Amino acid sequence: MKSYMELARHDGNATLFEVVEMGIISMLWNIPLHIHAEGLRGTGKTTIMRAARQIMPPIDRIKGCLYNCDPVNPHCPSHKHLSPEEIAAIGTETVLRPFLEISHSAKIGTIAGSIDLQKITNTANPEAALLPGIIPQAHRGVIFIDEINRLADTSPEITDILLDVMGTKPGRVQIEETGLPVVELPVQVSVWAASNPDEEPGPLQEIRRQLSDRFDLVVEMGRTTSPDAIADILIQSEQRRLGNKEVSVKTADHSARMQKEMDKVAKKFEKLSMPDFLRNYIARLYVKYNLESFRAIEAIQHAALLHCALRQREQPLVSDILKVIPLALKHRVDMDTLTKIMNSSSDPKPVVSSDSPAMNLSSQQKKNKPGTFSSGYEPAVNDGIETEIHDNSQQKEGKSIFQPLKQLFSGKQKPEEDTSQGDPVKASPLNKAKRLPDMNLDELIKSEGDFK
Ligand SMILES: [Zn+2]
Repeated sequence: MKSYMELARHDGNATLFEVVEMGIISMLWNIPLHIHAEGLRGTGKTTIMRAARQIMPPIDRIKGCLYNCDPVNPHCPSHKHLSPEEIAAIGTETVLRPFLEISHSAKIGTIAGSIDLQKITNTANPEAALLPGIIPQAHRGVIFIDEINRLADTSPEITDILLDVMGTKPGRVQIEETGLPVVELPVQVSVWAASNPDEEPGPLQEIRRQLSDRFDLVVEMGRTTSPDAIADILIQSEQRRLGNKEVSVKTADHSARMQKEMDKVAKKFEKLSMPDFLRNYIARLYVKYNLESFRAIEAIQHAALLHCALRQREQPLVSDILKVIPLALKHRVDMDTLTKIMNSSSDPKPVVSSDSPAMNLSSQQKKNKPGTFSSGYEPAVNDGIETEIHDNSQQKEGKSIFQPLKQLFSGKQKPEEDTSQGDPVKASPLNKAKRLPDMNLDELIKSEGDFK
């Protein structure tokens, strides 16, 4: 398997790196984040998602529990009624965080659970017991599904199970076996999926819209057009061919360090909350654009907090929300609505963001057909919603928060120094080299207090 730290980051895939790291932070906050990466073959979506398991901190579980029972919050049929003393007597163990895959040929029994044949055919002590399937065994970790559009097309029963798993947080899974009582278990599983919407049977939202809506964020992958990034990829494949041992030792060190950093960041920023004026902004989006899915705005709020934590900032900013809006809405609203939200209605301004994965989009955008956009595109902020924010939070002072925003989006500000330097979460040397400066917005607006 390719090393997460060695994978080249570029303008086409940077958002997926960020989003899987946000997914890991969310997992450490005990809230699953369901992520769907869409893109053509060869954009590296499955490679990045599979490699991300290397930087996931391990879990502590009750010794030998196939359901990964948290010793302080046991949930499985064998352990949920035990006292802390009884659990202490069994003992605990540290294991890799689960990262399990569901393939197209999987059967329901393998996915949910089935009768434990070994136990029931034990001649000395036959016992009817359940063997948890992939989903219950992935509790507190990730289920990865490649080509989810195909799975949704060919396996409606498995899709129904996924709808339950992803319907609430935590989700639930039912294990049904003839002759045994139905067991329903809570499962805290993040579903990560990948698909190529240009291949049969087409985009997931057209195959099974309900399943598509269960994904909190959809990341659209792109190819890089930067020769430097391509040269980096070539260097890496050459290093792999030469079997450079030093590189792999360094990689193991990096992965261990990243796991610790993820844990530290998640703990430090666990108490982050959305300031009222930003929450109101999200609420206004919902009303103004008549967004059908409440999950969409919940995803915007949660993902913006995760993005803020990933950037190791104490206070969520407008830029955190702007970054995640296209990821949360791309699969949930029609292109016209999204374009309206993302673009200024009258006078699209050049885009300054470097925070954006699709850094070159301000120029690309012009080449795009009308009504198209890329998920990395940072919106210009003057479509009326923002004026409402202004009215709402600044009436008393009579001072516009949009002066700095307007300057920012009119492209007059000089980009700041790269604030990601020395940032331990983004510790990849490649990442440091490739990441353009953080948004000026971050520098301009540090807290609600700055607006007053
Ligand atoms: Zn258990």
